[in-house]
Order: sequence, then structure tokens, then C-alpha cells
Amino acid sequence: MFAINHAASALIFKKQLRNKVSVVWVLLSVQFVELLWVLLNLLGVENTVTEKTVNYVGDIHLDYMPFSHSVLSSFIIAVVGGGLFLVWKRSWRVAIWMALALLSHIVLDLLTHAADIPLGFSNNSLLGMGLYSSAPIVAFFLELAFGIFCWWYYKGSKSLFWIILLFNLANLTMFVPQIKGLEFYLADKPVLISVVILVQILLTLFLVGRTSGHQGIIEVVETR
Ligand SMILES: [Zn+2]
Repeated sequence: MFAINHAASALIFKKQLRNKVSVVWVLLSVQFVELLWVLLNLLGVENTVTEKTVNYVGDIHLDYMPFSHSVLSSFIIAVVGGGLFLVWKRSWRVAIWMALALLSHIVLDLLTHAADIPLGFSNNSLLGMGLYSSAPIVAFFLELAFGIFCWWYYKGSKSLFWIILLFNLANLTMFVPQIKGLEFYLADKPVLISVVILVQILLTLFLVGRTSGHQGIIEVVETR
């Protein structure tokens, strides 16, 4: 899933956690796997390749990412992360919701990715619903609908709605091969791809965090 919709997923966990954990931790948790992917790609441990011409997301192949994006590593990250929050906050509820936030990344990626998500620490069994490669326009509307759902569930502000909508629309050329977009310049440039994704992660997390306000606090006050 694209950065804006992973960022939007944090709204679900923020609402459930009711400010028992800083929103910064929630935002970092839903994108922890992607931040790890950027780091491991820049270090050359994981690998991304592209077709000669990049017309859409299906022309970018996440060739090797068993440490950041395998189902196994996501479970390990969720258990370790949840455990750390259990020790820190002494609350099973916080620990479980933070573990789910960490795990949400791979679940959302499995829904949209081509079969590029390893089951374990090798590239033997690759999973993914394949929407990015075989039905990208379906992926676009699924992602947009999910982002808007997160906003609706959270009862977010108008500015939050516009951020989710506009960032999804900005990705449109990535889903329609016939429309040429900036992805054209990503061909054969794996380092640039990692940097572009890092910028998207940080920008969308910042904007979603900034415009999500203190909904949880208001709700707690109102229900008293
Ligand atoms: Zn991912």
C-alpha cells in the first residue's frame, strides 16, 4: 500500500489507544516495516529493480526484501514491539494494539502487492494479491477507499480528508500505465526510489499526525 494510506491506518490505532501512547509511536509503528525497507535498500541488503521504462507501479519490482517485508519478520517485529510496549506501559491493551499497528503494514501490503512478499527469510514462497501488477486501477480505488474509511472511522477533520484524498490522487499516474507521471524517471534508479519513498513516508506521517489533532482526548472528555 502507498505511504498515505499506511499513514491513514494510524488513525484506527490512535483512536483505539485513546492517547495512552504518543501519536508519534503509532505513526512510526504503521510504517516501521517500510522505514526498515528504505534502510536495508540503501545499505544494499534488500534489492529493488525496475523495467527499462517505468509506466506504473507494476514496472517496479521489489525483488528481495525478506528481512523488512516477510510475513515472518512482521510477526517477529509485532511480538517484540508489543512486548516492549507491555513493559513500558504495563497495559495488555496498549501492547496488543501497538502489535496490531506494527502488523497492519504487511497485511495492507499483502492486499495490493504483486507476489513479492516472502513468507520467511528466503524468496521461496512469495505472497501478494497481485493487484499492483494485474489490476492496478482496482488497487487505486481500494487504497483510496481504505484511506477514506480510516478518516471516517476516526471522525477526522476536513483538512485530514483533503490530505488523504489529494495524496491518493497524486499517486494516480502510478496506477494507470497510459498516463505518464514522475514514475517515468525512476527507471533503473533503485536508490532514488528508496529516497522518494522515504520522503513520502515522512511527509505523509507528519501531515496525518499534524491534522489528526486530539480527537481521542476530546472523546474521553465528552464521554465523562
Ligand atoms: Zn510496505
